[in-house]
Amino acid sequence: MDAIYYILGIIFILGLGIGSFLNVVLFRMTTEKKFWNGRSECMSCHHTLEWYELIPLFSYIIQRGRCRECEVKLSLQYPLVELLTAILFTGFAYLYIPDLISLYTFTPIQYIRGLIIYILITQLIIVFVYDLQYQLISVIQLRAIQILGLIYFCLEYYQTRIMPDSLITALLSAGIVLFLYIITKKQGIGWGDVELFAGLGLFIPLMWFVPFFFGSFLIGMIWGIIVMLMNRNSSLKQKIAFGPSIILSFVIIYTLIQVQLVPSTNIWYYWIIYNISK
Ligand SMILES: [Zn+2]
Repeated sequence: MDAIYYILGIIFILGLGIGSFLNVVLFRMTTEKKFWNGRSECMSCHHTLEWYELIPLFSYIIQRGRCRECEVKLSLQYPLVELLTAILFTGFAYLYIPDLISLYTFTPIQYIRGLIIYILITQLIIVFVYDLQYQLISVIQLRAIQILGLIYFCLEYYQTRIMPDSLITALLSAGIVLFLYIITKKQGIGWGDVELFAGLGLFIPLMWFVPFFFGSFLIGMIWGIIVMLMNRNSSLKQKIAFGPSIILSFVIIYTLIQVQLVPSTNIWYYWIIYNISK
């Protein structure tokens, strides 16, 4: 077996661990506890969790999703966030590192660029889950995503010496959404969505602007219809977060860009393109 799969396996386990940490951050964001003090405890009976109850994913499976002391049902969010982080971490590594040798030939810029994407993934997961639950995007995450976008943009410029046109993607998408934000009088679209587009646009070349931007709205529409159908019987007017749709569209488009960049390992991509164009 290719040694790269061992690396991917390690990254998957690392992703589970980081995902578990993101759960702690998300939980403390809602309780305003500082996330570096105090040990994790059961929210219901407050019994301090043992080390083996903190093993991501596996502890949830072994305990069948219940607290060992009071048997209260644990939120499915915990294993899902851990799994999602691990999948995104491994997926990006798979696309970014074609083989083991390339790890030695990577330039410092390629390492920094990879690191930026990994930090971005953690921030996007926090925004995704938090916006879904509270229809709010934390300003800390927005600034982090924008700063990461700016560094990414500068690296592109440093490498090619050409101003990356992703700047136009950022301005155009944030501009249009800002316009919608104003004319809809802040109904439906929030200020956080404007800022999210401004940050994420910096990662998307202009030629991918249309699928990224309209993809967000398409996903948002489908999402809205599903939520509406699911809440058909309740008279409550459901507010729908737009952030998760923007993030989903971003992840899909950024993956397609990465796939296009490493053709040698992705023959299936050409197989699809070949069959579509036939
Ligand atoms: Zn408990």
